[in-house]
Amino acid sequence: MNDPTTTRPGAIVGIDLGTTNSLIAVADERGPRVIADEGGRVMVPSVVRYSVDAGGRAVVESVGDEAKRRAADAPERTVSSVKRIMGRSIKDAAGDLPFLPYRVVEGANRTARVEVPGVSGGPPAVVSPQEVSAAILREMKARAERALGRPVTRAVVTVPAYFDDAQRQATRDAGRLAGLEVVRIVNEPTAAALAYGLGLRAGGGATTIAVYDLGGGTFDVSVLRVTHAADAGGTDFFRVLATAGDTHLGGDDLDRALAAVFEREIAALPGVDAAAAASPAFRAALAREAERVKIELSESESASARVEAPGAGVYRRAVTRAEFETLIEPLIARTLACCERAVRDASLTAPVDAVVMVGGCTRVPLVRRRVGESFGVTPYTAIDPDRAVALGAAVQGAILSGGVKGTLLLDVIPLSLGIETAGGAVAKIIPRNAMVPARAREMFSTQADGQTAIKLHVLQGEREMVEDCRSLGVFHLRGLPPMPAGIPQVEVEFLVDANGVLNVSAHERRSGKRASLQVVPNHGLSRDEVDRIERDSYLHARDDMTRHRVVDLTVNSRLDLKWVGERLAKHRDRLDPADASCLDRGIAGLRSMVDAASADWRAVDPDAFHAAKESLDRAAVRLMEVSIAASLREDPPSPAG
Ligand code: ADP
Ligand code: MG
Repeated sequence: MNDPTTTRPGAIVGIDLGTTNSLIAVADERGPRVIADEGGRVMVPSVVRYSVDAGGRAVVESVGDEAKRRAADAPERTVSSVKRIMGRSIKDAAGDLPFLPYRVVEGANRTARVEVPGVSGGPPAVVSPQEVSAAILREMKARAERALGRPVTRAVVTVPAYFDDAQRQATRDAGRLAGLEVVRIVNEPTAAALAYGLGLRAGGGATTIAVYDLGGGTFDVSVLRVTHAADAGGTDFFRVLATAGDTHLGGDDLDRALAAVFEREIAALPGVDAAAAASPAFRAALAREAERVKIELSESESASARVEAPGAGVYRRAVTRAEFETLIEPLIARTLACCERAVRDASLTAPVDAVVMVGGCTRVPLVRRRVGESFGVTPYTAIDPDRAVALGAAVQGAILSGGVKGTLLLDVIPLSLGIETAGGAVAKIIPRNAMVPARAREMFSTQADGQTAIKLHVLQGEREMVEDCRSLGVFHLRGLPPMPAGIPQVEVEFLVDANGVLNVSAHERRSGKRASLQVVPNHGLSRDEVDRIERDSYLHARDDMTRHRVVDLTVNSRLDLKWVGERLAKHRDRLDPADASCLDRGIAGLRSMVDAASADWRAVDPDAFHAAKESLDRAAVRLMEVSIAASLREDPPSPAG
């Protein structure tokens, strides 16, 4: 048992074997994370390029990015979307065949197989979908072994909730062919929920969760019921109540809707070569440009398309988010109809408790809005929708290997949550050890006159300065009307819900502008990390407090100096000369403190700094009176009423 020569079984990895892209993740003492390649990419296109040897045997030429990039020069030997025919009979797969660029033939027991044409007149080869998936899984396995520096032999692999036994078995077989023991097949929606830690928290009754997954070519929605258990066994406590969807509805359709607009407008251009503008190659180029515009519109209010129109020069077209939303509204409406059906089929007696968003297209703001309206809750978008399934599979892997104790599923907030304030200090909004759910609000304002945007930086940790805390995310409140410093009233609200998901929202009361951010504060944090952060905070508590105090004094003193300096310049002749020179001395004293503190916070004694500020504030009382009296004369108040 303790023989050091026996190899310890390594971590059980999690694999999202997707129709379009696949990802691999691991959850160990460093927390759950997706494994990237040497270039930092986490998604492996689910594409395998084959060639055929002289003996008629299929040989894998390349997998992933390389295979996808070169697809155009041998589409009939480039196998993509093989998941659509995985474990299916040729008859059941018939509906999908028109969408696949390679030949599908009938194999043993009426199964669907891929025929790869022979090279230079040689005989064709036939490969099973299991073998194609195995090539992808082998690539994922190798990637994980390189990154982790040890063999990876066991995996949790995800499949759609609607996969039948044959499709699940085919997925297991693919794993075995790739040299992986598939210790469990997990439903994709269940994995996504697990990534958020849903169902892993002790206490509480049953919860219902909807998982909305809008990918590149497929859409599905599942309604799950999770029964909480104190000693959670991961997916053991998830039950799929209902699923609905459309296996031919996804991001590609959004691209096509936009590309169709471009195509119509290009066809009407003077001098256009109509035949070339209707060719499949040109259409494909339009779809690629449409996808680029679609992705840009998830971030910006407008984007522009630019395409070389055959015979008619460069076609340029601005697209606003509003216009794009009008175009795709009917497609989104179809997904919502599926959601309603799933909810009906699940016979729920109460609304769902949470909605989890999965798939690249859930980054489209309209999708988020509509799904939120349809279910009546703010959907969870905090975890990257591309990664949620793989991360959840890794969490299940860690549970199965007994390693989940390292991850954090607490009913209290283990580390304080706060926001960056002027000078790089952190204002704590929710203190550590607060019970979840927790809610807290605080008011903030601007530092500079005429500021029209405010940056909100959300942080976690016990230290006083931004650089010593963990950054959870940044968002901006934009479009504020210009106002003097300190006048805008920005209410920042932190809300940690019962599942530990944090919603931060900012609202400027005068203009009504709003912005928000969602994160899972404990995602990727391990017990050890929390302990270290706590130790550090004790170690640095004294220094940190002093520094925070000096930074706040510096920021406030600058505002004072500005105010007093401006008023003094204007009203000096209305003041007693003794008062004026007292102010001059106060300004000089405080300014030297500010300068010293800005150069090095350790260089000033915070008590002396505080005293200098107080003394200027006292000296300025007379100036304030004079200035108010003067402004009343200049600008008489309007009569009441
Ligand atoms: P699949 O589940 O089919 O493997 P994905 O979940 O990877 O697919 O989703 C791919 C789709 O997501 C593509 O249509 C892509 O254009 C779209 N997509 C990716 N990022 C964004 C974004 N930022 N905004 C809108 N759509 C996006
Ligand atoms: Mg997917």
